[in-house]
Amino acid sequence: MKICRFNDDRLGIVQDNQVYDITAIRDQVLRGQSTDGWADPVIAHLPELVKLIGDVRKLRDPVPLASVRLLSPVKRPSKLVAAPTNYRAHISEMQKVSANNTVRRSPDIGEAGMFLKATSALIGPSEGIRLRFPERRNDHEVELALVIGKTANQVGQENALDYVAGYCIGLDITLRGPEDRSFRKSIDTYAVLGPWLVTADEIPDPDNLQLKLGVNNELHQDANTKDMVYSIRRLIEFSSAFYTLHPGDVIYTGTPSGVAPIRPGDTLIAEIEKIGRMEVAVKSA
Ligand code: MN
Repeated sequence: MKICRFNDDRLGIVQDNQVYDITAIRDQVLRGQSTDGWADPVIAHLPELVKLIGDVRKLRDPVPLASVRLLSPVKRPSKLVAAPTNYRAHISEMQKVSANNTVRRSPDIGEAGMFLKATSALIGPSEGIRLRFPERRNDHEVELALVIGKTANQVGQENALDYVAGYCIGLDITLRGPEDRSFRKSIDTYAVLGPWLVTADEIPDPDNLQLKLGVNNELHQDANTKDMVYSIRRLIEFSSAFYTLHPGDVIYTGTPSGVAPIRPGDTLIAEIEKIGRMEVAVKSA
């Protein structure tokens, strides 16, 4: 099932380029539920929601996908966790870029650990990236993003995928420079998530997905998640060894090689196998 958030925080099912509005079903599921705690309420109740939706073919009155404004599929994650340098070819390209920087970071994810992006940086594809510091280098990074479905604390690799609600395309937009990584990557609008959440049952093997990113008509990134240094299972084990992952938390799994600067006026076209495709506009701040 492909679940989207759209327009004024409505919830929908995407099927054959149509959106079926299931906001009323969401509201029914959430009625009387506590919104305390760190979990995103919709993601925490996804199994009940999916059960109530039942057969997607029985939904009625869709609107064209092209007519809606897609928001981040997760409204309020408690954390945006991200993997640095998780593809070998990207590690060597970044060693060239950082040769001019004063900050030295370990290229080994096991030593470097994960990092966090501010949740306030999160947007959906319709909102557009607003570039700050246009005189400096701002890069695109396309990544497979996973959304945690149930509370995960010190989870082992063997059952790590049981904690995944679904998958999205993530863009980890990055200002290059000497500041701390999380500072540069937490600028408003620098965390894109979309175009929708594909429930985990549709992607049994997330470690074998082709992902691509083009800028305007030029293909920049084209890789497969099988080339990740840390697999999806290992990333969940690694991050949950340090902090509890709550329903709705997002893990950006790292970008492959081909990152390049973006400028206002550009259109980013990102695509991941079995998830879909999204276009995101780059604007000035
Ligand atoms: Mn990244």
